[in-house]
Amino acid sequence: MTATTCIRNAACVVAWDAANQRHAYLMGGDVAFAGHTLAYVGTRYDGTVDTTIDGTDLMVMPGLIDLHSHPSTEPFYRGVREEHGVPAMYMSGLYERSVALQPDAVGRKAGKQVAFCEMLLSGVTSVMDISGIDAGWIDLAAQSGLRVFLAPSYASARWHLENGWALKYRCDEAAGRRGLDAALALIETARAHPSGRLSGVVSPAQIDTCTTDLLRDSFAAAEARGLPLTVHCAQSVNEFLVMVDRHGCSPVQFAHGLGLLSPRTVLGHAMFIDEHSWVRWHTRTDLGLLADTGTHVAHCPSPFARYGHTLEDFGRYRRAGVNLGIGTDVAPHNVIEEMRLAAILARVAARDITTTSVGALFHAATAGGADALGRPDLGRLVAGAKADVVLVDLANPWMQPARDPLRSLVFTAADRAVQTVFVHGTKVMEHSRVLTMDHAAALAEVAEGQRRMLRDAPSRDWAGRTAEQISPPSLPRLEL
Ligand SMILES: [Zn+2]
Repeated sequence: MTATTCIRNAACVVAWDAANQRHAYLMGGDVAFAGHTLAYVGTRYDGTVDTTIDGTDLMVMPGLIDLHSHPSTEPFYRGVREEHGVPAMYMSGLYERSVALQPDAVGRKAGKQVAFCEMLLSGVTSVMDISGIDAGWIDLAAQSGLRVFLAPSYASARWHLENGWALKYRCDEAAGRRGLDAALALIETARAHPSGRLSGVVSPAQIDTCTTDLLRDSFAAAEARGLPLTVHCAQSVNEFLVMVDRHGCSPVQFAHGLGLLSPRTVLGHAMFIDEHSWVRWHTRTDLGLLADTGTHVAHCPSPFARYGHTLEDFGRYRRAGVNLGIGTDVAPHNVIEEMRLAAILARVAARDITTTSVGALFHAATAGGADALGRPDLGRLVAGAKADVVLVDLANPWMQPARDPLRSLVFTAADRAVQTVFVHGTKVMEHSRVLTMDHAAALAEVAEGQRRMLRDAPSRDWAGRTAEQISPPSLPRLEL
């Protein structure tokens, strides 16, 4: 007999309205789960209950889905990348940073733990973890308590710089092949893990770093195994220009020509599509291609907004029929704050407050991400779905007055009001404390790892610069 937990008389439940395929507020209700499955979402649960949680001051909502993240590396860039960009590369700091500043393998393990902790603290229950294959990844993912979609990344070439503007490539086709094979093997092991929380995503790293053969074979492998596929595509102006140089078309059009666009495909980040104001390309077909093929987009506003980039715009993509999910792609791994930024940027880009809403962003961060992963049993509170449940404290001062709890959460409180997180029916975070990992110890290791990464910058950077030269501190040092 599996134990049943019931959140009784919750002030607010973000329930799934199956008839209309959308979330709706149920003001006053019960949510019950048995084992790892939701047993009941409604006004009154009459079944046997082993554990009761008083829901008087709670909003019960589905766990959030971080549809695009790099947990192994991003925690090391705190204090480094927030204001780092290269104007001569259309503001993107991606290429300079990823070449010059690389955390080592020892550090990356702690980085993953820190990122996973940030996710649990902010109500994320599922994550697409796009990383290189490090030893112990599966064990760490299992230990975290999260639902992890492991996306082992590989490529036929690596970015390389010889100056401060031109994006170059170092090719190693055999490495790409080995990477695909290793990724598929790792995914099989993850899927077989007894936790039942691990799965995989086929992840050729970037549209510009993989050969057409590797991209095609990756897609075929994903189809054969019934797996999603993700690839970075249309993520920078430089990448757009490289694709025009190689193929005479936009990155999205190139992907479509290869047969890569499909309902199993998640593009990170599909921002620089043909109609984007920064590229001024002559066609207007990309958005239609994404919609017609059922391709999903992982939208991660923060990293791009810091450069001055934005999707144009979230609401327009939705209206065109594109399914979007929300990712972080950066530290902090806080999907609630990404929802807020996505809403604001969409309105700024569209010059229109009506282009999107908290309801649309919340859908993206839950059901949208779940659909992108081919998992209709995630991202919604409905009987039969997985018990990935987040309890939000409505009494938290940052939530008050809680007239519209999701607005309070997204525009004000964010993680401060996230009280309890259940994944697969197991409590993994409570009262700002992660129950599955040692956050403080991992943070100390990340700080050490960051020191090593910064120290080694001159040996990696094309101009031999120090980390302080690449990313100067926000204030000068006062010498007394
Ligand atoms: Zn990314």
